[in-house]
Amino acid sequence: MASAMTNPLLQVDNLNMYFPVREGLMLRAKTFNRAVDGVSLQINPGETLGLVGESGCGKSTLGRCIARLYKPSAGTIRFQGEDITHMSARALRPFRQNIQMIFQDPMESLNARHTVGDILAEPFIVQGIGDSAFRSKRVAELLNTVGLPARSATRYPFEFSGGQRQRIGIARAIALNPKLVICDEPVSALDVSIQSQILNLLVDLQSEFNLSYLFIAHDLAVVKHISDRVAVMYLGNIVETADSEIIYRDAKHPYTQSLIAAIPVPDPQRRAQRIIIQGDVPSAINPPTGCHFHPRCPRAEARCKAEKPVLRELGNTQFAACHLASG
Ligand code: SF4
Repeated sequence: MASAMTNPLLQVDNLNMYFPVREGLMLRAKTFNRAVDGVSLQINPGETLGLVGESGCGKSTLGRCIARLYKPSAGTIRFQGEDITHMSARALRPFRQNIQMIFQDPMESLNARHTVGDILAEPFIVQGIGDSAFRSKRVAELLNTVGLPARSATRYPFEFSGGQRQRIGIARAIALNPKLVICDEPVSALDVSIQSQILNLLVDLQSEFNLSYLFIAHDLAVVKHISDRVAVMYLGNIVETADSEIIYRDAKHPYTQSLIAAIPVPDPQRRAQRIIIQGDVPSAINPPTGCHFHPRCPRAEARCKAEKPVLRELGNTQFAACHLASG
């Protein structure tokens, strides 16, 4: 785990990603989908930040902004102290080595017409690293690192199981020795037994290569075992953040509490005490007034509808955006 005194590897401040919603004959943008709306966070070297929330909360969009697959609408992204928010594709090239992504569906992210060897050699070709012999050697090493035989290089993605394909996706992500890997729901599409194998692989790779992870999931149970800290996102905003151990023991925001309550437990008494939230995440085009969570919150008061809560420090590394939260 990284020390609190370390300079952050990644620093995100007041980040917005608004997508225009075009309407009418002239396709003018009259409204915006505020997928990410004023998010600040940091990740230290060697640290894993779990980013959790239901589908449609803006987690993947935030991850793609940090990887600069999207150009943010406002705010700043600093990587190792350097502002990469508005860098051109050419200026970004050295940073692309250091910030990589693992996607939910490796079948979609791996080119089905290329062999695994070609897929794993591609990052070296794009960055102009090494000759053909070097690339073949690195491909074999990468396959070995993620637990696949070297002969996999001559096969195609469709010849592998879902878990094996995710191993190939991971091998591609670590090919250039990145410092930060954004894992976007990397185990959501896998069977439970395979999920733990992939999570264990990610943990082993982290200690071997001193990787930092932004680990995105819709399920708090998945991030529990891998995260040093957890940030909970709701409708484009971070609503709670704390060290992993604290957030699972003493969550302050009703939304976080409901996500924790959704983790399956064998104890019937604890099941009975659960707070189950109703309904779906509202649209980010026209979010609810005040606290965006108020239409679904079991504790909402009149003030919640009128006044948006800010993310406040409650002590002990914990921050929450709720009028009623106290340390
Ligand atoms: Fe619920 Fe109000 Fe807190 Fe929002 S501010 S989470 S509506 S109690």
